[in-house]
Amino acid sequence: AHEAMQPHVVVFASPGMGHLIPMTELARMLTSPRLNFAVTIITKAPTLSSSEKDKESFRSSLPSSVNVVFLPTTDPYDNSFTQIFLSALSSLPALRETIRSLKSSTRVVALITDFLSVDTIDVARELDMPFFVFGPFNLMALSFLLHSPGIDRETTMEFCDMPVIKLPGWCTAIHGIDLSAAYQDRRSEPYRLSLHMANQILKADGILCNSFYELEPGLASILKDKNPNHPPVYTIGPLVRSIPDQQVNSSICIEWLNHQPCDSVLFVSFGSEGTLSSEQITELAWGLELSQQHFLWVIRTPDGSRGTALLPEGFTERNKAGLVVQSWAPQTEILGHKSSGGFLTHCGWNSVLESIMNGVPMIAWPLFAEQRINAKMLVNGIGVALRLEVQDGSVVPRNVIATVVKELMQGKGGRDARKKALELKVASGKALSDDGSSFKDYTKWKSSIVI
Ligand code: UDP
Repeated sequence: AHEAMQPHVVVFASPGMGHLIPMTELARMLTSPRLNFAVTIITKAPTLSSSEKDKESFRSSLPSSVNVVFLPTTDPYDNSFTQIFLSALSSLPALRETIRSLKSSTRVVALITDFLSVDTIDVARELDMPFFVFGPFNLMALSFLLHSPGIDRETTMEFCDMPVIKLPGWCTAIHGIDLSAAYQDRRSEPYRLSLHMANQILKADGILCNSFYELEPGLASILKDKNPNHPPVYTIGPLVRSIPDQQVNSSICIEWLNHQPCDSVLFVSFGSEGTLSSEQITELAWGLELSQQHFLWVIRTPDGSRGTALLPEGFTERNKAGLVVQSWAPQTEILGHKSSGGFLTHCGWNSVLESIMNGVPMIAWPLFAEQRINAKMLVNGIGVALRLEVQDGSVVPRNVIATVVKELMQGKGGRDARKKALELKVASGKALSDDGSSFKDYTKWKSSIVI
């Protein structure tokens, strides 16, 4: 009788919208009639600084078929890599109890955890459940993670001293300094945690990666081949936010875009956490002005103060073809609008997928985490973005910004990148259709756990 019950997947997500959004979409996908799982998302809160109201709005954004359980939390309000990792550790007893209780009345078949909460593998093993890791990044970032314990064993060299890193299947090489801050000092705690994370991922029963075959064909063929050195890899993307959850500035932006010519607007945004220095904000303003292109800029300051105060005098009056909004904008709707023709982005993976799915070419301005790897891949490997030289700690000058913006919106480089973006838009649409590459991976994954 147990076998006849609907298979139930438990999804554990650490706080942080960057992985919670795609994991919610994963849950939506799993509960669709095509796959027909029951899903419970277990999390502490959307972010470590979330209020009860944020939790409620997260709950109400879920499809009715997806259940959510919030675990109690006393964590400090700090969304750093280390804190999120520790937060997952402190959740283990509550997670164990919640899964036990779900198991008593439903047929729980698997635990899927985001990559920061990999210590939940202990709970899965104890309760005798298959354990999967969700990677809210691309295959290139995954490939680096999977190889990192080996590199750590083979050399004592600091990553920042490695001029070239190119692993099998990579579409481009990177420098050691392109890796995230955790890899810049091998004696640091974040480095130790990153290695631990990689070693735990290597023990999983499989990895679900938010990418799709056609986006990274070289690496996909290598990673998806059976390999005793790592768990099976499934490409199950692109999973991007399908319903807007924050309505801030929505009508202003869309109303304004409705009045702009087709493909004319450059959208400028650095994700949910990225900020520029005050000096860089002013320089970016001059760069946008000098480029003489239409733009929609989401301005966010490090201390949450009004960014518009940093704009040069008379900026708004002189730039009638530009719109500046504070802190947040409905990004997926903006990128899907016919007036959007380019995206100046920090290369957060969700932003990149949203741009690609809408056929919008990019300018890569990476800030932190694995964003420099993403930038190299987009610019040198795939050709869907133009490069902006960003030196750590120095301000990118206005003329450099103006030149690359003009090139994206009017030049040959922009035309080539747009052509590539449109090809990928078509491919991304197909990937999740019934016989698409990603959907095939869902079915393959399902048959590995449901007998
Ligand atoms: N986002 C948004 N409006 C904003 C800033 C961000 O809707 O003003 C959304 C964006 O669409 C994406 C997510 O927040 O889904 C940001 O994720 P990403 O991986 O790009 O960057 P992160 O915020 O994790 O650095």
